[in-house]
Amino acid sequence: MKTIGYAAHSSDAHMVPYHFERRALRNNDVAIEILYSGICHSDLHTVNGDWGPQPYPLVPGHEIVGQVIETGPDVTGYKVGDKVAVGCMVDSCQQCDQCHNHEEQYCRNGMTPTYGAPDRISGEITQGGYSKHIVVREEFVLRVPDALDMPRVAPILCAGITTYSPLKTWNVKQGSRVGVIGLGGLGHMAVKLAAAMGAEVTVISRSNAKAEEAKSSGATGMLVSTDAEAMKKATASFDLILDTVPVKHNVDTYTPLLDIDGTLVIVGQVGPLEESMTIPLIMGRRRVAGSLIGGIKETQEVLDFCAEHNIHPECQMINADEINDAYAHLKKGDIAHRFVIDMASLSL
Ligand code: NAP
Ligand code: ZN
Repeated sequence: MKTIGYAAHSSDAHMVPYHFERRALRNNDVAIEILYSGICHSDLHTVNGDWGPQPYPLVPGHEIVGQVIETGPDVTGYKVGDKVAVGCMVDSCQQCDQCHNHEEQYCRNGMTPTYGAPDRISGEITQGGYSKHIVVREEFVLRVPDALDMPRVAPILCAGITTYSPLKTWNVKQGSRVGVIGLGGLGHMAVKLAAAMGAEVTVISRSNAKAEEAKSSGATGMLVSTDAEAMKKATASFDLILDTVPVKHNVDTYTPLLDIDGTLVIVGQVGPLEESMTIPLIMGRRRVAGSLIGGIKETQEVLDFCAEHNIHPECQMINADEINDAYAHLKKGDIAHRFVIDMASLSL
């Protein structure tokens, strides 16, 4: 199938229109017309080569929403016209304990990311959501609940699941004291989801600039990480902190904020941290952990959770030719929402 997207051709991460082919449908494949595609900071890391050399040209995008336009003969769960979504993975071995346990993101044989990795069968490089169409095996397609507003769903597929999964894993509930470091794409979803679970949520930001957005997302507290006095006062006041900082940083700034037995979960910066102290960990049985997106079953769960609680990500709709401007904002970290590409702005 011929399609068009936006691709980076080198690590200068400059995105330009790109014509390419989607694979012919296999028996268990669903062909999707992409309507909206979110822009994750991981897209920028990847096309920049922050995580290693890439197979350019590369079409990023793993927050995908659209409609089914064709199905392979063995597909049983979807039909033409269904509202569907695709997240960060498009395949996994389906055989190992993690796949059986609905945690395909931790597949022992390595899951297949939505873009930039060899397809398990043909070996061709997967290409992501900044495009008009995608072909994905049925098991990795999600259903968009009717109660959700299609143009504002895409960020749930990565920012939503990546924050929902640790909130569930660490058992956030009514009254839990949750801190969210960094009010960007992931951060603002973390606030909405934790608040809906009944937590008391505090945004931990570099300045007060995003106070309004923090409040409107459901945070009741705002802590400025550059205010030493305020940080000291907040010592031992959180059960769980989600760290979405996208650059190398020092967790010593934040670990003392955890109460005894509290956990700081890193979901941001995939790579080295600055050297940090064991003292806050040892002196309070505090933990530092990590978490990667979430499984397919849990991704459907967060979509359904958002529908049930009327949660929509804050989306700034852009045209495909504005992706480079969106990247400039992500680099600065000056926005408290997600950019979402309206694919109607791109034609074959
Ligand atoms: P984003 O929209 O750019 O938000 C990141 C936020 O971090 C910024 O808005 C800013 O918030 C804060 N920040 C930026 N630079 C900082 C700095 N130098 N020091 C401290 N804080 C800083 O990014 P995102 O899309 O939410 O992604 C965040 C990170 O998560 C990225 O590294 C991404 O690759 C990663 N990620 C991981 C997973 C996973 O599965 N683990 C999934 C998706 C994304 P304030 O202005 O409030 O400080
Ligand atoms: Zn992402």
